[in-house]
Amino acid sequence: MIQTEDMEFAPRVISPELNQEDGDSEITLRPQTLNEYIGQDKVKENLAIYIEAAKRRGEPLDHVLLYGPPGLGKTTLSSIIAHELGVNLRITTGPAIERPGDLVSLLTSLSDNDVLFIDEIHRLSRAVEEILYPALEDRVIDIIIGKGPSARSIRMDLKPFTLIGATTRAGQLSAPLRDRFGVIQRLELYSKEQLTDIIRRSAIILGIPCTTDGAAEIAGRARGTPRIANRLLKRVRDFADVMGNGQITQQIASIALSRLEIDKLGLDSLDRRMLEMIIKGYGGGPVGLETLASAIGEEAVTIEDVCEPFLMQLGFLGRTPRGRCATKLAYEHLGFRLPDSDDSGQMSF
Ligand code: ADP
Repeated sequence: MIQTEDMEFAPRVISPELNQEDGDSEITLRPQTLNEYIGQDKVKENLAIYIEAAKRRGEPLDHVLLYGPPGLGKTTLSSIIAHELGVNLRITTGPAIERPGDLVSLLTSLSDNDVLFIDEIHRLSRAVEEILYPALEDRVIDIIIGKGPSARSIRMDLKPFTLIGATTRAGQLSAPLRDRFGVIQRLELYSKEQLTDIIRRSAIILGIPCTTDGAAEIAGRARGTPRIANRLLKRVRDFADVMGNGQITQQIASIALSRLEIDKLGLDSLDRRMLEMIIKGYGGGPVGLETLASAIGEEAVTIEDVCEPFLMQLGFLGRTPRGRCATKLAYEHLGFRLPDSDDSGQMSF
């Protein structure tokens, strides 16, 4: 499907959130072992040691918190951990656990040393979190039976288990919950070389002929995120089929990605709109997040979770206590003339 102007409200091609288009291939493309998992070397090295130690002692792995922007491989890593430990994996999300009872039934259904993965763990309700504390610390849950004066609390033992929590916003996790994770690992955006390897691996699995240059061209525009890299690979394949002989070359990839309005560095129209608003509307900044979000008609969370980590990594955006600023690099990339520092006085690089 090719994006055109009248499809402005279609999901962004480079949104790192899972969308329908990713379909079953998300599962097919998911690496199964730590060796197959490309990049995040420090995280992998640490986890390999903890997994080995837990296996040798026949104990569950300590509770793990993975944090970082969406699409970087947190769910993938949790399924690898369960696979390497040789245990079952239960996957759920914070908002799906509505009532304390939902969590109780999840926890009591686990077998010895199983892994429970809770995505978006920062969105657990307070009441559910309360159940989690003793479960994580002492492997027990307190259940209240009855109501009013006759209510009594019974303590139930749980089987040993590992909780893997994933979040895009470690800062929003309550301190008592964060403190109960023995292993806390941050996932970083991937380098172009790592994404090239990920795309080449995915191309082989999906049977798409792709040159190394072609993979590198896609990798350079995938904003450090494997999910976006895989999605762009599938989009570019359509162009290769229609415009060429089915093989993804550097030239085909470049044409396809320009048609999708993704520029050489991976910025799409939303990133550009946001930077242009800071530059043209607010003299380069600083401008507060909420003001900026309403000025461009976008959700503040999308800007904060999706645009900002990438634009900051590129050195295009600065965050100050007073708001967001466009940097010199952003002016240059978008072709704007830098204001004289005297007349604006607002630019802070
Ligand atoms: P998250 O849970 O952080 O949003 P996922 O684990 O769902 O991200 O990863 C999205 C997709 O990206 C997966 O389907 C997988 O194919 C791919 N992926 C993520 N990390 C890697 C990696 N390190 N190596 C290869 N593929 C990866």
